[in-house]
Amino acid sequence: MSLRLDLGPKPRLGYTESAIERASELRLNGAAVAMLAAAPAARVYVVGGEMIVLKARGEVHDPLFTFQEAANLGESVEVVFLGLVGNAGRWGFAITPQAAETLKTRADLVVTDLRSVAVRGLVEQDHLPPIAEAKAMLHWHARHRFCANCGAPTKVTHCGWRRDCPQCKAEHFPRTDPVVIMLAVEGDRCLLGRSPRFVPTMWSCLAGFVEPGEAVEDAVRRETREEAGIATARVRYFATQPWPFPMSLMIGCHAEAVSRDITVDREELEDARWFTRDEVAGMLMRRHPDGLTTPPPVAIAHHIIRAWVEGEISFD
Ligand SMILES: [Zn+2]
Repeated sequence: MSLRLDLGPKPRLGYTESAIERASELRLNGAAVAMLAAAPAARVYVVGGEMIVLKARGEVHDPLFTFQEAANLGESVEVVFLGLVGNAGRWGFAITPQAAETLKTRADLVVTDLRSVAVRGLVEQDHLPPIAEAKAMLHWHARHRFCANCGAPTKVTHCGWRRDCPQCKAEHFPRTDPVVIMLAVEGDRCLLGRSPRFVPTMWSCLAGFVEPGEAVEDAVRRETREEAGIATARVRYFATQPWPFPMSLMIGCHAEAVSRDITVDREELEDARWFTRDEVAGMLMRRHPDGLTTPPPVAIAHHIIRAWVEGEISFD
């Protein structure tokens, strides 16, 4: 069966299609990066833990600050060179979460978490990938001040892209944690679950961390079996999305379900059940009779579900 529903123009997936040229060759050229930082076009994104600081501008705000403006917001905890937009350098500039908190009272600033920034469209979409890059990198620095090998304090090198241990000479690189997020499908039905953390009307794909020594396909099959008791066979890769909460990479897949009876792991999920293609189409378009929804277009789950609803994915 190849049912095709056309839901109209596709929205952009959040945090992807970065316009930043990372220019990794510059990370060892401190003099060149210092010149870029001194240039009038240099701009930084200001991050305080989970909070992003924006200049208030009507409905869509401005996330870019000069180094001087950023320094006036709070003491710099860490600075990471993100790359170039044209010839202009961009950096992530960390202030403490406490400093960010105190900025919330200022009328000329908007200080809020990145999820809200993305879901509510508080900045132009092109700013989301570099903000994700900045937030994930600055989180890594905040949690990796000491050598995992010998415990000595480490030193930042490579314009923020490495931490070296002066004691045991270990080199520490920024980490990304892979997460599989998948939609198991069976004919005209798909499997969605609810985390207790979700708003009461929302259902989404199942997801879980890839474990060491595990293939993505095996992780998809294991998580689907563990969380919902559903066996799956073929797995197809769909797309990925950086997910800087705090530093994950979501690996989106579809999986061919080969069993039907659901057993919900109540430690992980509040519920899981099968949905028909028509029902899910209504959820995607916010037209479900009971007000049920999928995650918004900023999240890859929306796109994984939509691709199946629109008939792009089939195991027939
Ligand atoms: Zn060490």
